[in-house]
Amino acid sequence: GFIGGHNAMMALYGAGHGHCEKAWNTLHEALERMNAVAAEYKKRYSLNYAILATPAEGLSGRFTKLDRKRFGIIAGVNDRDYYVNSFHIDVAEPISIEEKIAKEAPFHALTLGGHITYVELDGEAKKNVRVILKIVRAMHQAGVGYGSINHPVDTCKQCGYKGVIYDKCPVCSSDQIARLRRITGYLTGTLDGWNSAKQAEERDRIKHT
Ligand SMILES: [Zn+2]
Repeated sequence: GFIGGHNAMMALYGAGHGHCEKAWNTLHEALERMNAVAAEYKKRYSLNYAILATPAEGLSGRFTKLDRKRFGIIAGVNDRDYYVNSFHIDVAEPISIEEKIAKEAPFHALTLGGHITYVELDGEAKKNVRVILKIVRAMHQAGVGYGSINHPVDTCKQCGYKGVIYDKCPVCSSDQIARLRRITGYLTGTLDGWNSAKQAEERDRIKHT
C-alpha cells in the first residue's frame, strides 16, 4: 500500500497531479511499476499480491511526524498533520467533480487490493437525485471500482432534527450535534472519534462542484 501520492508530487514538481500533467504522468507510471512488481510476485509465489490504495487512518499522522523530524518541514509536502490518501487529489485543492473522477479513475485498475474515489457534496445533494445519478454514471464509465458521494448529515441529539447544522439546531437551538462523516471507506457516527490527523484532513476538505 501507499499514501501521499499528492505529497510526493509536490516534492518533485511543486504541484499536485490534480492540475499538473507531468505530475499525473509520474504518479501513474509509479503505480504501473508497483503493479507490475505485484503481478510478478503473484506469479512467482502463487500468492495473491495486490497494490492497495491505503486510506491509512492510523498512519497518516504518524508518517508526517516522523518525516518532519528527519527532513524538516517542507512546504506543501509534510507541513500538514496528514498525508493525502493514496492517489487522491489533495482534499484542499479545488477541482470539479468531472475532473476529479477523470484524474483518479485510471488508478483504480492499478490498485486491485482496494481503492475508493469520492466527491464531497454539500448538504443539499440529496435533494438533487439527477445529479447523483449523473455522478454515479460518470464514475462507472471512467472505470471507478468503488465510488462514493459524500455529503454531511448532522443530527441534533436533543430533538432529532437531521440536515446540515452549523452551530446550533435550527429547531431547538441545541448545540449537541452528532456529525456523520465519511473518514475513508466507511462512515462514523461522530467526528469526535476520528484521530487528530484525520480530523485535520476533514477540516481541509473542500466541496466539489
Ligand atoms: Zn434540535
